[in-house]
Amino acid sequence: MPPKEYDPDHKIDLDKNTCPNREQRANGTNVYYGKATQLIEDAKAGKTKCFDRELQQTSGCVLNFYLTVRVSTIRDAAIIYHGPLGCSSSSLGYREIFRSVPPELGRPEKFELNWITTNLQQSDVVYGASEKLKNAVLEAQKRYDPKAIFILTTCTSGVIGEDIEGAVNEIQPEVKAKIVPVHCEGVRSRLVQTGYDAFWHGVLKYLVKKPEKKQKDLVNVASMLSYTWQDRLEIKRLLGKVG
Ligand code: SF4
Repeated sequence: MPPKEYDPDHKIDLDKNTCPNREQRANGTNVYYGKATQLIEDAKAGKTKCFDRELQQTSGCVLNFYLTVRVSTIRDAAIIYHGPLGCSSSSLGYREIFRSVPPELGRPEKFELNWITTNLQQSDVVYGASEKLKNAVLEAQKRYDPKAIFILTTCTSGVIGEDIEGAVNEIQPEVKAKIVPVHCEGVRSRLVQTGYDAFWHGVLKYLVKKPEKKQKDLVNVASMLSYTWQDRLEIKRLLGKVG
C-alpha cells in the first residue's frame, strides 16, 4: 500500500510525510524467476519488479523486522507504537538481547529501551485514536524525559488513515522532546527495507540540522543491520583497520 502522497518525480522529498516504497524508488523485489545472470542484467536495466505470489507465508514486517531494531537502540529517545499491543512485542526481544551484553563489551550500565504502545482496540479502529496517541506522547515525555519521541505507525493506524501529523502538530508545543513520526505500517510494502527509508526520512525531516561546521576527519556511520552489540564492535574493529 504505497503512501498516498507518493510522487514518482521526487525520490526524496522531505516536504512529504514519508518516502516512496522500495518497490517504487528502486525497483526492489524479493521474488525473481530466472537465472542469476539474467537477474543482474535486469537489475542493471531497472527491470526488476515485485511479482504477486499465490502463497507467501514468510516475510518480515516493515515495522518490526528492521525498524524496531534500529529505533529502539537510539539512546535518549522513546518509542510509541501506535497500534495493537502485539505490534510492539519484538521490543521485548531486543531488550533482552541488549541487556545480555556484558558492560565490559561496551554496553552502558544503564542501557534501557524506552517504549510504550497505544494498545489500539476495535473501538479505536472505528472512532480513531488521535487522543490516545497524544496522551501517549505526554506519558512518554513524563516517564522518560527523552530528547526525541518516535511514533511508529502500524497496519492498524495505517488502514484507518490516522492523521499522525495532525496529532503531532497539536501536541508538539506541549512536550520538550522532538516528535518524529515514522510511517512504517507493516502492510505498506513487501520489502522490509522500506523501513530503513521511512526511518531516515523521519530523522532527516525532523532531527537533522544543517551542519554549522564540517569536521574533515569525521564520518558518521549508520549501520543498516545492527542486530547486536557485537556487530557494533566488529564494525568499529573493521573501520579501525582503515584508520
Ligand atoms: S499488525 Fe502489521 S505492523 Fe503490526 S506486527 Fe503485524 S505486520 Fe507488523
